[in-house]
Amino acid sequence: MNVFSSPEYVASAHAFDTTRKAEWLAASLSRTPIRDIDLVVPQPLTATQVATVHDIGYVQAVQTGIPRDLAESQGFAWDDGLWSMVLASNGGVVAAALDALEHAVSGSLSSGLHHARRERGDGYCTFNGLAIAAKCALDAGADSVLILDLDAHCGGGTASLIGDDERIWQLDTSVCGYDSYESSRRASVKVVANAVDYLDEIRASLNMVAKLGPPFGLCLYNAGMDPFEGCGTGGLPGITGEMLAERERMVFEWCREHSLPVAFVLAGGYVGGQLTEDALVDLHRLTLTAAAHPA
Ligand SMILES: [Zn+2]
Repeated sequence: MNVFSSPEYVASAHAFDTTRKAEWLAASLSRTPIRDIDLVVPQPLTATQVATVHDIGYVQAVQTGIPRDLAESQGFAWDDGLWSMVLASNGGVVAAALDALEHAVSGSLSSGLHHARRERGDGYCTFNGLAIAAKCALDAGADSVLILDLDAHCGGGTASLIGDDERIWQLDTSVCGYDSYESSRRASVKVVANAVDYLDEIRASLNMVAKLGPPFGLCLYNAGMDPFEGCGTGGLPGITGEMLAERERMVFEWCREHSLPVAFVLAGGYVGGQLTEDALVDLHRLTLTAAAHPA
């Protein structure tokens, strides 16, 4: 299984989980490899590709740092490295999506995608690689795309970007109302309040979309680990590492059962509180392990 990543994913000077965790994961994989995973450097996106989803004025602000408040609307201090970082990490999402169409399962060590909107960033998300990759997959011949968003926070940015295309659906099970939106036929959001309901809600949503949705040609999986109870940003008491391991097995097994190619990205998960860097890396490794070796 190919997993896309490059040193450019962490090129921003602004040090934060979203701008550093790809490096943490890559180092962990080099120390303790997961069988059958190859790290591959993706082609970065071009400004033109980003502008298929984002307003050109916003794209140029991220490139140049001017105006500064727009360039920093995701919440990072701007520097030269931000532009190459987001072109590389969003390029990795597109590369993983196209690779999954060919090889059934793929991924990218990207994060910071789902809150980004057409004309600005938000919530540590600069460009919305999920929406960009969904459109690229359709261009490459996928009939329709399911974006599965299990980050702790809702994917309102993505929902705002897919409304114009009947072929893109979003299934969003969150544990925190941040960036929530009104559910529609194609983009449904559910905020789970009790950990005991978490896995059942995800299972029910997957069963529902299998019944009501079109025959999907690709699943883009935003595999946030911030629902973990020890995560200070988004964590829900009672959601354990074992439950997240079970979630990952369920998602990749569901994709396999439905012969649905799947490309994952890392998404949320933040060091602090009761979550060390090593523990966060171990949580994200659950996704890679389940993707490479579905039950
Ligand atoms: Zn999140």
